[in-house]
Amino acid sequence: MILTKIGSIIKQNDNFAIISHFSPDGDAIGSSLALYNMLIENGKSVDIYNQDEVPKRLKFLPYSNYIKNQLLDKKYECVFVLDCGDKDRIGNLVDIFNKTNLIVNIDHHISNTLFADINYVDSNASSVGEIIYNLLKINGFEISKNTAMCLYTSIVSDTGGLKYSNTTSMTLNIAGDLINTGINFTEINRILFNTMTKSQLKLLSKVISTLELYKNDSIAIMHVNKQMLEECGANEDDASDMVNYARDIDTVELGIFIKEVDTNKFKVSLRSKNKVDVRLIAEKFNGGGHVRAAGFTIEGDFETVKKNILEVVSKYWK
Ligand code: AMP
Ligand code: MN
Ligand code: MN
Repeated sequence: MILTKIGSIIKQNDNFAIISHFSPDGDAIGSSLALYNMLIENGKSVDIYNQDEVPKRLKFLPYSNYIKNQLLDKKYECVFVLDCGDKDRIGNLVDIFNKTNLIVNIDHHISNTLFADINYVDSNASSVGEIIYNLLKINGFEISKNTAMCLYTSIVSDTGGLKYSNTTSMTLNIAGDLINTGINFTEINRILFNTMTKSQLKLLSKVISTLELYKNDSIAIMHVNKQMLEECGANEDDASDMVNYARDIDTVELGIFIKEVDTNKFKVSLRSKNKVDVRLIAEKFNGGGHVRAAGFTIEGDFETVKKNILEVVSKYWK
């Protein structure tokens, strides 16, 4: 059992690093911090990394301010890579591979390339948080309130608040167990799902006005560019969940959100409701993800990029 083996590695070593994917979401940060909290509670020495800043809404998580954006000049007995379908998702901190002889990859993307020395990939898990919960339980590690906060954040982030089709009865049982540690889950839910800054609300109104519908209103596209962000005093991460508004339209099966990240460079998010496997579409553009949520980056001018995406998407339309 790989989780038992990973448990032994934790018990037998003292010096760890944890890293997750760039442009981190609640699962990347939540699962990393859950593992971090558990390891330091067990007296281990741990560095936690991400290429990018922690999104504002996740800064309430314990030790989120310990996440470093630059690698230290150090070696580790073991490095955990979390929520990364492939090595490139680590971004410009990929040199961490040269700082250890033991990489452990823990993930839930079906397309995971098994890039590590030890790979534990469970594509039935809602989130990496769910896997970390199992890792701790199977190996008899205590789940403190701090660790539970991080795990709960991870799980509800990737399941849209325990609502998406990746939610199983196991996911709900785990959430229940985490709530029993006494965490203030209503507060966490409010922070994650019912809080907006003034800038975000202004940005949302601009983003919604970019809505375009195709294929009998079953495909919705919205976008955001640098100018819109500037006008609202918002940053890129402020738009991270706006793709959901496109998907939520009653007639829509596929919501597409195109975000300008640089001149002629865009990050695209795809969300589907019931039918379209968006991972397959994302993979056509060298991206990845899950059946109902996937993404990729693409270069070119905006109109060409949009046309290109619609052309590929059309092949999946009956
Ligand atoms: P996002 O639209 O960024 O919220 O991402 C949705 C899902 O797709 C997440 O599970 C991501 O891990 C995955 N994903 C997003 N962008 C990429 C990419 N460039 N390459 C691989 N997977 C991605
Ligand atoms: Mn993620
Ligand atoms: Mn995830």
